[in-house]
Amino acid sequence: MQTPMILDGKALAKSVEQELQVRVQRIKDKTGRVPVLATIIVGNDPASVTYVRMKGNACNRVGIRPLKIEMPEESTTEDVIRQIQALNEDPDVHGILLQHPVPRHIDEMACFNSIDLAKDVDGVNTNTFGRMSMQMDAFKSATPLGIITLLKHYNIPLEGREAVVIGRSPILGKPVAMMLLNENATVTICHSKTKDLPEVVRRADIVVAAVGKPEFVKADWVKEGCVLVDAGYNPGNIGDIDLKNAIAKCSAYTPVPGGVGPMTISSLIRQTVESAERKFGITNG
Ligand code: NAP
Repeated sequence: MQTPMILDGKALAKSVEQELQVRVQRIKDKTGRVPVLATIIVGNDPASVTYVRMKGNACNRVGIRPLKIEMPEESTTEDVIRQIQALNEDPDVHGILLQHPVPRHIDEMACFNSIDLAKDVDGVNTNTFGRMSMQMDAFKSATPLGIITLLKHYNIPLEGREAVVIGRSPILGKPVAMMLLNENATVTICHSKTKDLPEVVRRADIVVAAVGKPEFVKADWVKEGCVLVDAGYNPGNIGDIDLKNAIAKCSAYTPVPGGVGPMTISSLIRQTVESAERKFGITNG
């Protein structure tokens, strides 16, 4: 068995950022304007605060202006939608991100669905999902886009491969399954009601774990030579796959940290740059 390949999201994200710096500079040179990513955070969940800070830092590295909007925990769905609508109408804002998850009393999907499709750079609006699924022009859900970008960068074949996605959330499991399907993989989506999950996972050439439970996928569930994509990010930098033991069986894997996480941020930033380029009529290249 060969040493498995590390699908290094950190390194790829860094090189994508370098490319984006050039594109942002071109926007500035041609228009005198700076792309703006507005981020709304509701409440102060520590993990969300960290993610928003990381996204803001990435904006600064490529020359985008991050506009952080902090809303109190007790905000209502209507409050958040009103804020989103103001950003939809603001001609200086090119991308809108509502940090997931919002407090439980807020209807997150209603908020996502109020984001203008042209500014939905995190790819969370239901219509964005529908258009992406139908292979129409649309932004893509950021984490799934990061995963597919990483797999393609490392020339992991997708066409005709058995892909098993564990998790069906609107921001991760469902869109990554659709994107794999659009790449001609044969896709199975698993969830908490799936029967004989280890048996289903054993069929997979590509496993995408998006469960939110530390080291949930065990080494004896995975086939020799498979590709392991661990989207999970649990406290203590622990993924959803028992990578320590599963690595020996796979041909390639995403490390945690340094795999899917950096690619999520880089996809968000890339789509913000694309949104600004469209707005200003600048073609990339
Ligand atoms: P989520 O909304 O909680 O969804 C979890 C999914 O896992 C659900 O579809 C659930 O099934 C399924 N599940 C739960 N228990 C299961 C079981 N015993 N067997 C099979 N399926 C089970 O989570 P999420 O937002 O998609 O996030 C998933 C993970 O990805 C988390 O660790 C999160 O931190 C991470 N994440 C990472 C990034 C990144 O940038 N790296 C971005 C987003 C999320 P049901 O639908 O049946 O309940």
